[in-house]
Amino acid sequence: MPAPPRPSHVREFDFEVRLSARLETGGCPGEAIPEVDPVVARQIGGGVHAPGARVIDVVLVEPGTAFEERAAITPERIPDAAIEADVPVGRAVPRREAFADLDLSPERQRAVVERAAEIGFVERERRAGRERVRGVAPYPDWYGDLVAIENKPDLTEPGDLNRQLRFDVALGLFDRVVLATGSHVTRGHLNRIPDAVGVWRFRDGEVDVVREPARLPADAPGTEILDEAAARTAIEPVAPDDKARARRRIAERAYGKGWRTYGFPACARIETAERHDACGLPYCAFYDRFVDPASECGPGCPGYDPAEAPGVDLDAAREENSPWVADPEGRVRTQSGLDRF
Ligand code: SF4
Repeated sequence: MPAPPRPSHVREFDFEVRLSARLETGGCPGEAIPEVDPVVARQIGGGVHAPGARVIDVVLVEPGTAFEERAAITPERIPDAAIEADVPVGRAVPRREAFADLDLSPERQRAVVERAAEIGFVERERRAGRERVRGVAPYPDWYGDLVAIENKPDLTEPGDLNRQLRFDVALGLFDRVVLATGSHVTRGHLNRIPDAVGVWRFRDGEVDVVREPARLPADAPGTEILDEAAARTAIEPVAPDDKARARRRIAERAYGKGWRTYGFPACARIETAERHDACGLPYCAFYDRFVDPASECGPGCPGYDPAEAPGVDLDAAREENSPWVADPEGRVRTQSGLDRF
């Protein structure tokens, strides 16, 4: 049985999924990503040297000119090492040759190729006892701007907000950074957060732009703040190439993951998308709000009423509401292990 969730987590989850649904169906407000529907994802690592040390609440990815080519490859995240490996399209080369410039063990190379073959990014064959790998499609230039959104439903409980926003601005990994809140935003609040950070007020399904975000220098060197607790702040410079790789990792992670990172619980009190939203949100009739099934549902919940989990097709909801493609036509189906060769 999961431990009872913190009240702030409950509020933040509800706020986060509502905002994600609004951005996916209504597009990005203001000037952050105008005119196109972004890819929306939740809980994505936003550091370079320590990607998991800063987790971004909501990430928006602007589809670029070659978005359709990317969507045609696979609905999943393409592993970074598979993109970096030198695998020619349509010509099989020995696996070791493809990974010659990457510092990866043979076991890791095999795992990367296995996953890349499963999702249809490469094909494998065995010739004279050696594994060879062939690219299925070139990796396209598929994304444009990246936007990081930090959610703070209630500004009277700012927590780590200031440190998080200073981290994002100093690193400049995203093109824009936005604070989203349900609170009334005063001049005092605006004065306390970095000038470059935009502010949205989100309530009753509507987003009001309080302040537009400034464009950050995402292709210039940045500074990653690793530790502010020490007597002296520990920082690490970040080169533009490292930022570019981290941006690709973020875009891929966002494309593969999306924001519906939950399942529907086996409880009679859960209500399906049709009643509340066509986006696939987990609404609980007992609490009268959206719930995070992973941390709130189960026999420990006072309203738990065992029942069959409702069949909700979250992939179908994502495909219907966003540019993501669940099952691209003609993509290579899952391949089994090397034994088949
Ligand atoms: S009542 Fe059921 S759906 Fe609602 S939080 Fe509890 S276990 Fe989850």
